[in-house]
Amino acid sequence: MRIVFLDRDGVINKYPGDTEYVKSWEEFELLPRVTAALKKLKTHGFEVVIVSNQAGVSKGLYSQEALDAMTQNMLDEFAKAQVTIREVHYCTHRTEDNCNCRKPKIGLVEKTIDALAKEGLEIDIEKSFFIGDTIRDIQTGKAAGLKTLLVFSGKEKPENKQNWESIPDFTALDLFEAAELVISH
Ligand SMILES: [Mg+2]
Ligand SMILES: [Zn+2]
Repeated sequence: MRIVFLDRDGVINKYPGDTEYVKSWEEFELLPRVTAALKKLKTHGFEVVIVSNQAGVSKGLYSQEALDAMTQNMLDEFAKAQVTIREVHYCTHRTEDNCNCRKPKIGLVEKTIDALAKEGLEIDIEKSFFIGDTIRDIQTGKAAGLKTLLVFSGKEKPENKQNWESIPDFTALDLFEAAELVISH
């Protein structure tokens, strides 16, 4: 099966800004055309998985319960448009916790692979994608052997290209344009 791994903040919902966090559903602003983009991916046979660093939990800025409520509200919103997300995985650790799941480490991708394997499903890694709004996402995707796509709807902008430590396979304005690129490859 082909998977599109998505980062959350800056891809699905509005980027809160450097060192800022989305702490509640009230602060969660769905970006334009996201639901349509997800629908397009699903229609073309891709499963969608969300993998996101949310260190704000460990920092005590919002609770695990608040994060779970945000996730449920987000999934409910997509469900209204008949869009289902296969899995959502978060790393809630801080850098100094040295876990194996904080991106650019690939623990969240591996968690997904393991979960699907338990259902007897195998991911076609080479035909799967990682879409994010930061170079850290691109590093994660590459480390996991996925095709990578950087969107400019969040943190990273094309003007900063000379500083990128990792070059994405593709770039797109937003998730909708990204979805169009993904289905044409
Ligand atoms: Mg992001
Ligand atoms: Zn972690």
